[in-house]
Amino acid sequence: MEKPKLIVDGRRLDGRGFEELRPIKIEAGVLKRADGSCYLEMGKNKIIAAVYGPREVHPRHLQDPSKAVIRYRYNMAPFSVEERKKPGPDRRSVEISKVSREALEPVIMKELFPRSGIDVFVEVLQADAGTRTACLNAASVALIDAGVAMRGMVTAVAVAKVDGEIVLDPMKEEDNYGEADVPIAFLIRNGKIESIALLQMDGRLTLEEMRRAMELAKKGVMQIYKLQREAIMRKYMREGEDYEGSEEAMEVERERECEEAKGEGEKERENRKEEGRNE
Ligand code: UDP
Repeated sequence: MEKPKLIVDGRRLDGRGFEELRPIKIEAGVLKRADGSCYLEMGKNKIIAAVYGPREVHPRHLQDPSKAVIRYRYNMAPFSVEERKKPGPDRRSVEISKVSREALEPVIMKELFPRSGIDVFVEVLQADAGTRTACLNAASVALIDAGVAMRGMVTAVAVAKVDGEIVLDPMKEEDNYGEADVPIAFLIRNGKIESIALLQMDGRLTLEEMRRAMELAKKGVMQIYKLQREAIMRKYMREGEDYEGSEEAMEVERERECEEAKGEGEKERENRKEEGRNE
């Protein structure tokens, strides 16, 4: 197919400006059986992330007595792409799983969970370029949802060069026909970018273009980071609301009242003793 014009009158094919992200939707805690989970949409990408653990590692010989073992599996559903994808792992998914695991590993406080394993599964239900970065964003939220101790949040976005322009968050056409594609992930700590967790590059950029790409990526991830945080907060607010009036909350309240009554009884006995002594 002939390369389409990717930028017309300073706008991209989907109407976005160069510095604009695709619409993003993030929801934490969507799977009942996982310890942590997340559903994320970034443009037409649709991703599910599920985290299991920290839990016992099988097979046992993979255990590490000093820290947790992290496993990350990136998988694309056969129906996620235009041309049906053969099910099962391939070179691309093995590579993406490896680099994504390496991006998350230093951020997870593995030393707190010796001999255990933390498994991260990400499933691409619909793909439209930038799935490895979208998956990392979902995985990070799912890890926090699972209560895994983290040094910060991993937030990722891709930057591309299309028709000579550096643009944020490329979609499929831009990825296919662009001159360069650069997925980047950052470790964000206390609302500030601390370090680069992943950086890959397909194509060529000049040093100046790379600087511009980094600048756009930083702007983009701060917006995504805010949405990741909001998704986690919403999940905990929801849990708080579910907790109020629940059987568990009532039980805690009954115990508290019992303890209070015991305390009162004791005080009264003490007072009576004191009065007896004074008489
Ligand atoms: N893609 C596809 N079939 C495949 C692999 C990828 O159609 O077997 C598409 C899919 O939309 C993906 C895009 O190509 O998002 C770009 O893939 P790339 O390897 O650059 O990774 P991504 O940008 O998704 O991280």
